[in-house]
Parts: sequence; structure tokens; C-alpha cells
Amino acid sequence: MENQFEKYHLSEEIMDALNVLGYHVPTPVQEQVLPYALESKDILAKSWTGSGKTAAFAIPICEKVIWDYNIPQALVLEPTRELTVQVKEEMVQIGRKKRIKVADLIGGFPIDKQIRTIKQKTHVVIGTPGRVLDHIRRETLELSMVNTIVIDEADLMLDMGFIDEVKSILDQVSGKPQILLFSATMSDSILELARQYQQDAVSVILHAPEEMNAETFIEEKLYEVGLEEKYEMFRKVLIKENPEHAMIFCGTKEMVNVLCRKLGKDGIKCGMIHGDIDQGDRLRTIQSFRDGRIRYLIATDVIARGIDFEKLSHVFNYDFPTGRETYVHRIGRTGRNGAKGTAVSFVTPDDERMRQMVETFVSYKIPVEEFHELSQAEFIQFQNTQKEKPKARPKKGAGFDKEIMKLSIGGGKKSKIRSGDLVGAISNIDGVQADDIGVIDVRDSLSYVEILNGKGNLVLQALQERPIKGKLRKVKGGR
Ligand code: AMP
Repeated sequence: MENQFEKYHLSEEIMDALNVLGYHVPTPVQEQVLPYALESKDILAKSWTGSGKTAAFAIPICEKVIWDYNIPQALVLEPTRELTVQVKEEMVQIGRKKRIKVADLIGGFPIDKQIRTIKQKTHVVIGTPGRVLDHIRRETLELSMVNTIVIDEADLMLDMGFIDEVKSILDQVSGKPQILLFSATMSDSILELARQYQQDAVSVILHAPEEMNAETFIEEKLYEVGLEEKYEMFRKVLIKENPEHAMIFCGTKEMVNVLCRKLGKDGIKCGMIHGDIDQGDRLRTIQSFRDGRIRYLIATDVIARGIDFEKLSHVFNYDFPTGRETYVHRIGRTGRNGAKGTAVSFVTPDDERMRQMVETFVSYKIPVEEFHELSQAEFIQFQNTQKEKPKARPKKGAGFDKEIMKLSIGGGKKSKIRSGDLVGAISNIDGVQADDIGVIDVRDSLSYVEILNGKGNLVLQALQERPIKGKLRKVKGGR
């Protein structure tokens, strides 16, 4: 099949990566953003996670990076740490064949290590405004070559009170960098930000998620319930629906804790994420949910928003959303890419006003479901599902993992090893070319090299007997 990204005349390395990732047809936001972004125009785009917006800015950034330059050329600002990590993953995959180095700067991780990372060759920096600003103030982040800035999820950035930090970062970049602004909603403050910092920005507006893909189908259900009975009804509906995976939204961190504990007591294991949970734990939970080790993830909106889980079959609004657009965002996490999804909401009398607002906003009535008691068969079916191991969903970039082996090599800067020495030694091996070498990371006394195209074992074996910089080195394979 011809890859429709060909029309953008991207370099071979980027096209190769898109092929491995299985991106053959640009999504609507990519169709609209790519031509202008590649021409370095400013863009103001209304779009959200799930629309393919990350690739819409990551492809042009990776395409335009000049590999030989040692300092950052693009800066991507994200409102949360989770989004930073996710966007980094996508950027790394798209830039993998070009060996683009991406650094993430997020709070909660040691700043010294980040300083060392960005001091080495770094092409793209992705981070949360606070930590990025911290590095700028310490003069550890070089901005002189930054020619593209992405403000991602700008409305969330505003909601979280980061807008002054974003502006302060923009004020410190000299010259006229290209500014790509992505936001799920276009409030006056976003438009003001755009007016203040962008020039002749191209406007890109996407329609609501359910209209975006005609094959996408979300079955919505609404249960009316008293506050006192809500937990019990939810538990039974969860059993009835018996989802393979589900995301369960609560209004507050406290409620996330309470619901997770209650379900745990009732023998239903869940993961949870919210702002008070330690950073490392949050990332581990997200990974477990992606890998399929956790079936149900309970979350608050702010933390969950923007995190991309492929093919979620169910979304539950345990607490009804308190913003009408939040409803659309939450349910938009299911029924993606043509798969059918189910969104179940619980409405107590207190939520009635919000329900009306949501229904006016979406211009339809959310179908009300009558609650029927659980049957024995439904209960047994649920228990059987719990005994099975949840299905792991394919990880993004799984195609790459198969082909890549990361080698660790004893020796680094202290023994005067440079990337060139590693490229030289490896590309001299019979059957291996420079193209088969991915990202190289030379640390103080250790170096890491990614070997692509399934040639890891070949290189691993050969290096057991070949000196690098005049000495045999300890070389180990891994992921
Ligand atoms: P995003 O909106 O950037 O979070 O992307 C949503 C999902 O779509 C991610 O899992 C991407 O890996 C995937 N994706 C992005 N662009 C494409 C494409 N052109 N074809 C197929 N999948 C894509």
C-alpha cells in the first residue's frame, strides 16, 4: 500500500519510521497541520488527544532537525508530566531512524541528571513549564537555536495556572521561532495568547471527536441514581458490562482513593492516578494499564486528560463531569479508530443541571438505561474474566522493539570514547551499515548504542572480539 505521507516529501528516515509505526494515512489534523508546519508557519489548532496531533507537530520537528547541531532546536511545552513522557515516546519513535535525541524535563526527577542529559547532544526538549523555566534560569538549557515551540494542550495549561510560566519562556526565546499552539477549546485567553505571540497563524479547527471518524461509534448510557446507592449500582453495572479494560473518572482525588479502596475490598483490583500520587507510581500505573496488567484505571480529569490509551472499550463517569466539554473529552477515549466503545455515566439529583448543560452542548439526550439486578450468569462471567490475564494492548512502536537491541558498552567519556569511535567499530562489522545504528548515548564510563533492523545479535557477537578505541570492551545486549 502506498503511504499517503509521501505527498509531504519527507526524508527517507522519517518515512521509514512512519511505516514501522503503521502510519499510512494522515489523520485530519495532520492533513491540515503538516503542510504549514513544514513551511515553518505559526499554527493555532483546535484539536485533542486521539486526533493524532502529537505526530502533527512531531513529524515536522523531526524532519527539520539538523542532526549535526548539538543544541536544542525545538521546545515542546506540556501541562503534565505524564503527557511529557507520552509525547517524548512518540517523538523518539518518529525520530528514531534519524537518531534524534529527545530530552524530557519534568519536575519530580533529579535536576542534575537532566542537566547532564541536555548538555550532551539534544535536538528536542519536551517539558512542563515550571521545570523548563527552572533550567532556563540556571542557564542549563540553551535556547539560541530553538526555532520551533509547541504549546500543547494550551487550555489545560491555563486551567492549571501555568500560563505566566509559558509566557515567560516565550519571552526568553530570541528571534522569531515558529509557534504551534494546540488547544481543545478556544477561550478568549487562548486567542489572546495567540494574538500576543503568533504571527499570521494558520487556523486549524477540527470537529468533535465523534464526528471526526464516521466509523467511530460510542454507545452512551446513563443511569439515574441516588447518591447513597451510587457505589453499589456502579459496582453492579461494572460487573454487567464486564469490560476488558476501562477508565473510571471521579471528580476529586479523594473520591479516586475511596472508590479504589471500596472496589479493592469487593475483590475488584484497580489502579489509580491523581495529582497527589508520587510521580514514579503514576508512570508505573499508566504503564501497567497499557501493558494490560491492570484492567481498570480510576482517575481525575486533569491527570488523565491527554494520556492516550489505545482502544479503550469502556469509559465510566462514576462522578458526572463538571464541565460540558469534559464529557466529550472523557467519552472520546473510547470508540477510537473505528472500534466500538461504551460510555456509562451515573447521574445523581445534584448532577441534573450539569446533565442538561451537557445535553444542550452535544445536542442530544444521553440515553437513560433502566437498571436491572445482576443475574447469576453475569456475575459468573465477570468472575471468569477476573481470573483471566487481561489482554496486553500492543504498545506504540512495538514494531521498533522487535528490531532494536540496546547494547551497553564498557567505556565512555573517561576513556575518551566518542560516538564516532562506536560508529566506526560497528559499521566495520560485515553485514552492518551506519544505517543500522540508532541512538548513541556516551556517558562517563559507559555507552549505549541502539542497533536497528534486527542486527543486534550480530553486532553483540562481533564486539566480543573487536576492540573499540584500542581495547576490548565489555558489551552486553538488552532492551
Ligand atoms: P495523539 O492525538 O497524538 O495522542 O494520537 C492518537 C493516537 O493515534 C496515537 O496512538 C498515535 O500513535 C496514533 N496515530 C497518530 N497518527 C496516526 C496515523 N497517521 N495513523 C495511525 N495512527 C496514528
